[in-house]
Amino acid sequence: MNRRRGLLASTLLCAAAYAVSPGAQAPGPPPAAGSLRWFKGNTHTHTLNSDGDSTPDEVVRWYRDNRYHFLVLTDHNYLTEITALNALHGADDKFLVIRGEEVSSSFEGKPLHINGLDPSRLVQAQTGGTSVADVLQKNVDAIRLADGVPHINHPNFGWAVAADDLAALRNNKLFEVYNGHPMVNNLGGNGRPGLEQMWDTLLSRGILLYGLATDDAHEFKKLDNLQSSRPGMGWVVVRAARLEARAILGALERGDFYASTGVELSDYQVAEGRITIKVKPVAWAGYRIAFIGKGGTVLEEIEGPDATYQIKGSEGYVRAKITESDGNMAWTQPVTVSR
Ligand SMILES: [Zn+2]
Ligand SMILES: [Zn+2]
Repeated sequence: MNRRRGLLASTLLCAAAYAVSPGAQAPGPPPAAGSLRWFKGNTHTHTLNSDGDSTPDEVVRWYRDNRYHFLVLTDHNYLTEITALNALHGADDKFLVIRGEEVSSSFEGKPLHINGLDPSRLVQAQTGGTSVADVLQKNVDAIRLADGVPHINHPNFGWAVAADDLAALRNNKLFEVYNGHPMVNNLGGNGRPGLEQMWDTLLSRGILLYGLATDDAHEFKKLDNLQSSRPGMGWVVVRAARLEARAILGALERGDFYASTGVELSDYQVAEGRITIKVKPVAWAGYRIAFIGKGGTVLEEIEGPDATYQIKGSEGYVRAKITESDGNMAWTQPVTVSR
Protein backbone atom coordinates (compact mmCIF):
# COMPACT_ATOMS: atom_id res chain seq x y z
CA MET A 1 0.00 0.00 0.00
CA ASN A 2 2.96 2.30 0.47
CA ARG A 3 4.96 1.47 -2.59
CA ARG A 4 2.96 3.55 -5.02
CA ARG A 5 4.08 6.70 -3.29
CA GLY A 6 7.28 8.60 -3.87
CA LEU A 7 9.22 10.21 -1.10
CA LEU A 8 8.75 13.71 0.12
CA ALA A 9 11.61 15.58 -1.49
CA SER A 10 10.93 19.23 -0.94
CA THR A 11 12.29 21.17 1.98
CA LEU A 12 9.45 22.40 4.11
CA LEU A 13 9.20 25.11 6.68
CA CYS A 14 7.80 24.58 10.14
CA ALA A 15 8.64 27.69 12.13
CA ALA A 16 7.13 28.12 15.57
CA ALA A 17 5.04 31.26 15.96
CA TYR A 18 4.60 33.55 18.92
CA ALA A 19 1.94 31.52 20.68
CA VAL A 20 2.82 27.97 19.78
CA SER A 21 5.58 25.64 20.77
CA PRO A 22 6.15 22.43 18.79
CA GLY A 23 8.52 21.15 21.46
CA ALA A 24 8.38 22.95 24.77
CA GLN A 25 11.07 20.77 26.35
CA ALA A 26 13.31 20.52 23.29
CA PRO A 27 16.93 19.71 24.14
CA GLY A 28 18.31 22.44 21.90
CA PRO A 29 17.42 24.89 19.14
CA PRO A 30 16.51 23.31 15.81
CA PRO A 31 18.75 23.98 12.83
CA ALA A 32 17.84 26.82 10.48
CA ALA A 33 14.80 25.85 8.42
CA GLY A 34 16.43 26.51 5.06
CA SER A 35 18.88 23.66 5.51
CA LEU A 36 16.34 21.01 6.47
CA ARG A 37 15.19 17.95 4.54
CA TRP A 38 12.64 15.24 5.17
CA PHE A 39 13.79 11.67 5.72
CA LYS A 40 11.53 8.61 5.77
CA GLY A 41 12.39 5.90 8.28
CA ASN A 42 11.28 3.06 10.49
CA THR A 43 12.38 2.83 14.11
CA HIS A 44 11.20 -0.69 15.02
CA THR A 45 12.32 -3.83 13.17
CA HIS A 46 13.48 -7.37 14.04
CA THR A 47 15.98 -9.78 12.50
CA LEU A 48 17.13 -13.35 13.10
CA ASN A 49 19.06 -11.94 16.06
CA SER A 50 15.79 -12.09 18.00
CA ASP A 51 12.43 -13.37 16.70
CA GLY A 52 12.57 -12.08 13.13
CA ASP A 53 12.66 -14.47 10.15
CA SER A 54 15.45 -12.82 8.11
CA THR A 55 19.09 -11.83 8.39
CA PRO A 56 20.03 -8.21 9.13
CA ASP A 57 21.27 -7.96 5.54
CA GLU A 58 17.93 -9.12 4.10
CA VAL A 59 16.00 -6.78 6.38
CA VAL A 60 18.12 -3.76 5.49
CA ARG A 61 17.80 -4.58 1.79
CA TRP A 62 13.98 -4.50 2.02
CA TYR A 63 13.98 -0.97 3.44
CA ARG A 64 16.62 0.32 1.05
CA ASP A 65 14.78 -1.22 -1.92
CA ASN A 66 11.54 0.36 -0.75
CA ARG A 67 13.03 3.86 -0.69
CA TYR A 68 13.32 4.48 3.02
CA HIS A 69 16.14 6.77 4.13
CA PHE A 70 16.84 5.19 7.50
CA LEU A 71 16.14 2.08 9.53
CA VAL A 72 16.68 1.25 13.18
CA LEU A 73 17.26 -2.44 13.88
CA THR A 74 15.69 -3.22 17.26
CA ASP A 75 16.12 -6.85 18.25
CA HIS A 76 14.84 -7.93 21.66
CA ASN A 77 17.61 -7.41 24.23
CA TYR A 78 20.26 -7.66 21.52
CA LEU A 79 22.34 -4.97 19.88
CA THR A 80 22.67 -5.97 16.24
CA GLU A 81 25.95 -4.79 14.78
CA ILE A 82 25.47 -2.18 12.03
CA THR A 83 28.99 -1.21 10.90
CA ALA A 84 29.20 -3.80 8.14
CA LEU A 85 25.58 -3.11 7.09
CA ASN A 86 26.32 0.57 6.62
CA ALA A 87 29.53 -0.24 4.76
CA LEU A 88 27.45 -2.33 2.36
CA HIS A 89 24.19 -0.36 2.12
CA GLY A 90 24.77 3.08 3.66
CA ALA A 91 25.14 6.09 1.37
CA ASP A 92 25.47 9.77 2.30
CA ASP A 93 22.06 11.47 2.37
CA LYS A 94 20.49 8.36 0.85
CA PHE A 95 20.41 5.54 3.37
CA LEU A 96 21.51 4.94 6.95
CA VAL A 97 21.20 2.04 9.39
CA ILE A 98 20.93 3.15 13.02
CA ARG A 99 21.78 0.91 15.94
CA GLY A 100 18.94 -0.01 18.29
CA GLU A 101 17.54 -2.48 20.78
CA GLU A 102 14.05 -3.37 21.96
CA VAL A 103 14.66 -3.46 25.68
CA SER A 104 12.09 -6.08 26.62
CA SER A 105 10.92 -6.59 30.17
CA SER A 106 7.66 -7.35 31.97
CA PHE A 107 5.71 -6.78 35.14
CA GLU A 108 3.31 -9.46 36.44
CA GLY A 109 3.13 -10.99 32.96
CA LYS A 110 2.52 -7.69 31.16
CA PRO A 111 5.03 -7.16 28.33
CA LEU A 112 6.92 -3.87 28.73
CA HIS A 113 8.95 -3.09 25.65
CA ILE A 114 10.90 0.12 25.12
CA ASN A 115 13.07 0.82 22.11
CA GLY A 116 16.48 2.30 22.76
CA LEU A 117 17.60 4.17 19.64
CA ASP A 118 21.36 4.49 19.05
CA PRO A 119 22.54 3.37 22.50
CA SER A 120 26.30 3.32 23.00
CA ARG A 121 26.17 -0.25 24.33
CA LEU A 122 23.80 -3.13 25.06
CA VAL A 123 21.19 -2.09 27.62
CA GLN A 124 20.38 -4.74 30.21
CA ALA A 125 16.61 -5.02 30.55
CA GLN A 126 15.56 -4.05 34.07
CA THR A 127 13.13 -6.62 35.43
CA GLY A 128 12.68 -5.68 39.08
CA GLY A 129 10.13 -3.09 40.10
CA THR A 130 6.97 -2.40 42.04
CA SER A 131 4.60 -1.48 39.20
CA VAL A 132 4.31 -1.13 35.43
CA ALA A 133 5.30 2.53 35.71
CA ASP A 134 8.27 1.68 37.94
CA VAL A 135 9.64 -0.97 35.55
CA LEU A 136 9.10 1.34 32.58
CA GLN A 137 10.98 4.12 34.33
CA LYS A 138 13.90 1.85 35.24
CA ASN A 139 14.27 0.83 31.60
CA VAL A 140 13.92 4.39 30.28
CA ASP A 141 16.63 5.40 32.75
CA ALA A 142 18.88 2.50 31.64
CA ILE A 143 18.47 3.52 27.99
CA ARG A 144 19.27 7.17 28.77
CA LEU A 145 22.31 6.06 30.79
CA ALA A 146 23.61 4.36 27.64
CA ASP A 147 22.98 7.60 25.65
CA GLY A 148 20.04 6.00 23.83
CA VAL A 149 16.75 7.68 22.94
CA PRO A 150 13.78 5.75 24.38
CA HIS A 151 10.39 5.20 22.81
CA ILE A 152 7.55 3.31 24.43
CA ASN A 153 6.30 0.48 22.22
CA HIS A 154 2.76 -0.80 21.61
CA PRO A 155 1.13 0.22 24.94
CA ASN A 156 -1.92 -1.97 24.24
CA PHE A 157 0.06 -5.17 23.48
CA GLY A 158 -1.11 -7.52 26.24
CA TRP A 159 -3.09 -4.49 27.49
CA ALA A 160 0.06 -3.75 29.45
CA VAL A 161 0.49 0.03 29.63
CA ALA A 162 -2.25 2.50 30.60
CA ALA A 163 -2.33 6.29 30.24
CA ASP A 164 -1.57 6.69 33.96
CA ASP A 165 1.60 4.61 33.54
CA LEU A 166 2.77 6.86 30.70
CA ALA A 167 1.79 9.97 32.67
CA ALA A 168 4.19 8.98 35.45
CA LEU A 169 7.19 8.59 33.13
CA ARG A 170 10.10 11.02 33.13
CA ASN A 171 12.70 11.59 30.39
CA ASN A 172 10.64 9.98 27.65
CA LYS A 173 9.26 11.96 24.71
CA LEU A 174 8.11 9.29 22.25
CA PHE A 175 5.55 6.51 22.05
CA GLU A 176 4.00 4.39 19.31
CA VAL A 177 0.57 5.73 18.39
CA TYR A 178 0.56 3.08 15.64
CA ASN A 179 2.43 -0.24 15.53
CA GLY A 180 2.05 -2.47 12.46
CA HIS A 181 2.19 -5.83 14.27
CA PRO A 182 -1.16 -7.67 14.02
CA MET A 183 -1.48 -8.32 17.79
CA VAL A 184 -1.03 -4.89 19.36
CA ASN A 185 -4.61 -3.56 19.72
CA ASN A 186 -3.91 -0.04 18.42
CA LEU A 187 -7.58 0.89 18.39
CA GLY A 188 -8.52 -0.40 21.87
CA GLY A 189 -11.75 -2.21 22.70
CA ASN A 190 -13.50 -4.08 25.54
CA GLY A 191 -13.49 -0.83 27.48
CA ARG A 192 -9.82 -0.09 26.84
CA PRO A 193 -8.91 3.15 25.10
CA GLY A 194 -7.18 3.20 21.75
CA LEU A 195 -3.75 4.76 21.46
CA GLU A 196 -4.99 8.04 20.01
CA GLN A 197 -7.43 8.42 22.88
CA MET A 198 -4.59 7.68 25.30
CA TRP A 199 -2.49 10.32 23.55
CA ASP A 200 -5.23 12.95 23.95
CA THR A 201 -5.69 12.03 27.61
CA LEU A 202 -1.99 12.66 28.24
CA LEU A 203 -1.77 15.83 26.15
CA SER A 204 -4.85 17.20 27.92
CA ARG A 205 -3.03 16.71 31.22
CA GLY A 206 -0.13 18.76 29.90
CA ILE A 207 2.14 15.77 29.24
CA LEU A 208 3.83 16.31 25.89
CA LEU A 209 4.40 13.07 24.00
CA TYR A 210 5.08 12.63 20.30
CA GLY A 211 3.44 9.80 18.37
CA LEU A 212 5.37 7.40 16.13
CA ALA A 213 4.13 4.94 13.53
CA THR A 214 6.33 1.85 13.21
CA ASP A 215 6.38 -1.56 11.53
CA ASP A 216 7.59 -3.82 14.34
CA ALA A 217 8.24 -6.11 11.37
CA HIS A 218 9.31 -9.70 12.06
CA GLU A 219 8.40 -11.46 8.81
CA PHE A 220 10.02 -10.60 5.48
CA LYS A 221 9.37 -13.94 3.82
CA LYS A 222 5.55 -13.84 3.99
CA LEU A 223 4.87 -10.48 2.39
CA ASP A 224 1.64 -11.68 0.78
CA ASN A 225 0.22 -12.94 4.07
CA LEU A 226 -1.83 -10.08 5.47
CA GLN A 227 -1.87 -11.70 8.93
CA SER A 228 1.91 -11.71 9.21
CA SER A 229 4.10 -9.12 10.91
CA ARG A 230 5.15 -7.40 7.68
CA PRO A 231 7.27 -4.35 6.84
CA GLY A 232 5.84 -1.22 5.24
CA MET A 233 2.95 -0.75 7.67
CA GLY A 234 3.87 2.45 9.50
CA TRP A 235 6.75 4.92 9.38
CA VAL A 236 7.88 8.40 10.30
CA VAL A 237 9.02 11.26 8.05
CA VAL A 238 11.54 13.34 9.96
CA ARG A 239 12.74 16.89 9.25
CA ALA A 240 16.46 17.11 9.87
CA ALA A 241 19.56 18.89 8.60
CA ARG A 242 21.28 15.70 7.54
CA LEU A 243 20.92 11.93 7.47
CA GLU A 244 22.89 11.18 10.62
CA ALA A 245 21.71 9.31 13.72
CA ARG A 246 21.82 12.19 16.19
CA ALA A 247 20.29 14.68 13.74
CA ILE A 248 17.38 12.28 13.14
CA LEU A 249 16.91 11.45 16.83
CA GLY A 250 17.14 15.12 17.85
CA ALA A 251 14.37 15.95 15.38
CA LEU A 252 12.23 13.10 16.71
CA GLU A 253 12.58 14.38 20.27
CA ARG A 254 11.65 17.91 19.13
CA GLY A 255 8.50 16.57 17.45
CA ASP A 256 9.80 17.58 14.03
CA PHE A 257 8.19 14.71 12.17
CA TYR A 258 4.90 13.18 11.15
CA ALA A 259 3.79 9.57 11.42
CA SER A 260 2.07 7.73 8.58
CA THR A 261 0.52 4.48 7.48
CA GLY A 262 0.37 5.59 3.85
CA VAL A 263 -0.52 9.29 3.57
CA GLU A 264 2.27 11.50 2.29
CA LEU A 265 2.40 15.25 2.95
CA SER A 266 3.81 17.74 0.46
CA ASP A 267 3.70 20.64 2.90
CA TYR A 268 3.35 21.10 6.64
CA GLN A 269 3.91 24.41 8.36
CA VAL A 270 3.26 25.93 11.75
CA ALA A 271 3.74 29.67 11.38
CA GLU A 272 2.09 32.95 12.36
CA GLY A 273 -0.59 31.20 14.39
CA ARG A 274 -1.62 28.88 11.59
CA ILE A 275 -1.14 25.20 10.89
CA THR A 276 -1.08 24.41 7.19
CA ILE A 277 -1.24 20.88 5.81
CA LYS A 278 -1.10 19.78 2.19
CA VAL A 279 -1.41 16.14 1.26
CA LYS A 280 0.33 14.74 -1.80
CA PRO A 281 -2.89 13.20 -3.06
CA VAL A 282 -3.42 9.87 -4.76
CA ALA A 283 -5.55 10.56 -7.86
CA TRP A 284 -8.54 8.43 -6.93
CA ALA A 285 -8.56 9.02 -3.18
CA GLY A 286 -10.43 11.41 -0.89
CA TYR A 287 -9.09 13.06 2.26
CA ARG A 288 -10.39 14.36 5.56
CA ILE A 289 -8.17 16.46 7.81
CA ALA A 290 -9.17 16.80 11.47
CA PHE A 291 -7.57 19.28 13.86
CA ILE A 292 -7.82 17.95 17.40
CA GLY A 293 -7.39 19.77 20.71
CA LYS A 294 -7.79 19.36 24.46
CA GLY A 295 -9.95 16.44 25.49
CA GLY A 296 -9.67 14.96 22.01
CA THR A 297 -12.16 17.57 20.76
CA VAL A 298 -12.32 17.91 16.99
CA LEU A 299 -11.74 21.63 16.56
CA GLU A 300 -12.28 21.65 12.83
CA GLU A 301 -12.64 19.05 10.12
CA ILE A 302 -11.88 19.81 6.50
CA GLU A 303 -12.82 17.66 3.50
CA GLY A 304 -10.04 17.58 0.94
CA PRO A 305 -6.25 17.31 0.71
CA ASP A 306 -5.42 20.87 1.86
CA ALA A 307 -6.24 22.49 5.19
CA THR A 308 -5.28 25.51 7.25
CA TYR A 309 -6.19 25.89 10.91
CA GLN A 310 -6.09 29.27 12.61
CA ILE A 311 -4.95 28.86 16.21
CA LYS A 312 -7.25 30.67 18.61
CA GLY A 313 -5.16 30.41 21.77
CA SER A 314 -7.48 28.40 24.01
CA GLU A 315 -7.00 24.93 22.49
CA GLY A 316 -4.30 23.71 24.92
CA TYR A 317 -2.74 21.85 22.02
CA VAL A 318 -3.52 21.22 18.37
CA ARG A 319 -2.62 18.12 16.40
CA ALA A 320 -3.85 16.96 13.02
CA LYS A 321 -5.01 13.60 11.80
CA ILE A 322 -5.32 12.97 8.08
CA THR A 323 -7.52 10.12 6.91
CA GLU A 324 -7.47 8.81 3.35
CA SER A 325 -10.55 7.13 1.87
CA ASP A 326 -8.67 3.82 1.54
CA GLY A 327 -7.88 3.71 5.26
CA ASN A 328 -4.37 5.16 5.32
CA MET A 329 -3.60 7.75 8.00
CA ALA A 330 -1.07 10.38 8.96
CA TRP A 331 -0.62 12.17 12.27
CA THR A 332 1.21 15.45 12.81
CA GLN A 333 2.72 16.16 16.19
CA PRO A 334 0.95 18.25 18.83
CA VAL A 335 1.63 21.96 18.90
CA THR A 336 1.35 23.30 22.43
CA VAL A 337 -0.79 26.43 22.54
CA SER A 338 -0.38 28.96 25.30
CA ARG A 339 -1.66 32.47 25.57
ZN1 LIG B 1 7.61 -5.42 21.45
ZN1 LIG C 1 9.27 -5.38 18.42
